Amino acid sequence: MFGFGVLKGMSVTLWNFILSYVYPKKGITTVQYPEQKKEVEERFRNFPFLVYEGAPDNMRCVACDICSKECPPKCIYIIPEKDAQGRVQKKPATFDIDYAICMNCGICEEVCPFDAIFMDHEYELAEYERLSSLLYHKEDLLKPVEHFAKIRPTDYGRIEATRAAKGVKGRAQPVAGAPPKPAETQQSPPATS
Ligand code: SF4
Ligand code: SF4
Repeated sequence: MFGFGVLKGMSVTLWNFILSYVYPKKGITTVQYPEQKKEVEERFRNFPFLVYEGAPDNMRCVACDICSKECPPKCIYIIPEKDAQGRVQKKPATFDIDYAICMNCGICEEVCPFDAIFMDHEYELAEYERLSSLLYHKEDLLKPVEHFAKIRPTDYGRIEATRAAKGVKGRAQPVAGAPPKPAETQQSPPATS
């Protein structure tokens, strides 16, 4: 019908206008940023972070390298730790993510079998320099599992219930017979200078 699209568009505008008064949290679309900030929805996702339990040394990641292989723009760089005898450990010595390349797709979170990497709510990450400033190292990426519980309580509850059902406590152990790949097959981080 002629004019139906215009009427429909105007009704959406009117509805949002009314909502901004009745439910300011839902209806408002403009805030005085950065003085004011809109609360992000639980499903909002931005750059990934790594999870640890209790202390940063007790990270869940076992350096299996799955996320770096699945990452579409290949912006994750992992080198596993080695012991004094040169044996590869189930822990990353280096875990870098180049935020300048990351496209926030969330695939790393989806494919991680150890619930070790999740998408964050953090969005104020602008820098004047785009190479070394946006190359986040393991120390920058690590956050306690309580942070995940706080920003995404629904996902946290679901994932922890699954882990409990599987009998996983704290740091997950990889399946027997599937050790992390040797260091020589890992990618190296890019030069940042
Ligand atoms: S997939 Fe998970 S456990 Fe494996 S390297 Fe990536 S973050 Fe670590
Ligand atoms: S969110 Fe996507 S692009 Fe970014 S590190 Fe994860 S898999 Fe790679």
